[in-house]
Amino acid sequence: MSHFYKPYKEGTLICTLCQHYCKIKEGKTGVCGVNKNIGDKIECLVYGYPSAMHVDPIEKKPLYHFLPFSKAFSLGTVGCNFHCSFCQNWTISQTHHINKSRYFSPQDIVSLALENDCQSIAYTYNEPTIFYPYARDIALEAKKSGLKNVFVSNGFESPEVIDDMVGIIDAANIDLKSFDAKYYQKKLGGNLDKILENLKHFVKNGIWIEVTTLIVPTQNDSDEELEKIAGFIAKELGVHVPWHISAFHPDYKEDALPSTSIETLERAYNIGKSQGLHYVYKGNIGEKIETICPNCGASVDRLHGLCPQCDRKIEGIYDA
Ligand code: SF4
Repeated sequence: MSHFYKPYKEGTLICTLCQHYCKIKEGKTGVCGVNKNIGDKIECLVYGYPSAMHVDPIEKKPLYHFLPFSKAFSLGTVGCNFHCSFCQNWTISQTHHINKSRYFSPQDIVSLALENDCQSIAYTYNEPTIFYPYARDIALEAKKSGLKNVFVSNGFESPEVIDDMVGIIDAANIDLKSFDAKYYQKKLGGNLDKILENLKHFVKNGIWIEVTTLIVPTQNDSDEELEKIAGFIAKELGVHVPWHISAFHPDYKEDALPSTSIETLERAYNIGKSQGLHYVYKGNIGEKIETICPNCGASVDRLHGLCPQCDRKIEGIYDA
């Protein structure tokens, strides 16, 4: 499938990029504000117009078990299908103003990635699902040059998109922002059950995933909720799936909440380990990245994904 919409009734199309399945009348856009019914099809308005492009360490995505120490050519557009009050990229995610001063074709993006010595292209900064038609074309072009492709997402893709990603997208970091269905619905504009299903779907489709939870004080930092999140990852996705617990810093509409304390991150770390997770990482606090071998407790050779002490292979993707 190379397009992601279907007819609904006269003058209306359904966008099938994400789980909102917006029914869009001619001339209108969906929830994300950047996919528009132009009559006979839905056009992704941000196609070719990145709002941000940077060369980032892959660890910044964060992906710690995927081509460690490599560079990812990272791009995002404007728009999002969520409206999180604590968004740390809200200046691009919550605007629909597209800067069309320069068009970047998929080939242009791949050339930039190669010129900058990157091993992958990361679709990130805002929610890439809403610009999947563009990401997909870049990713297919990237594959021809031996580059890998990475999605950094809120996990609200349609199942059609996750199936389409097979053989195109190699790895994803997916947010699991909460385990509270009401919170997902009211505060973020998403749906917990669909995200849990999607996480399992990514794993089933053979896409390497790592999960991130931004720990927001008073919102999702109770022992009970953290146990549910970590328990789901361990039981449903696998104890080898890395869990990134990330510190919140006041931003956007949530500037009244405090930053996440080191103690809270430590507590979340211990909960993750007690639920059986092999790899739990504390992020956003400037700590050195260290992978501990789940077998013998030695510090692992991250580049090769191998424990130097007991030779245990560390799960992930290590070949360029
Ligand atoms: S990407 Fe999602 S939010 Fe945007 S129009 Fe399509 S279904 Fe709606």
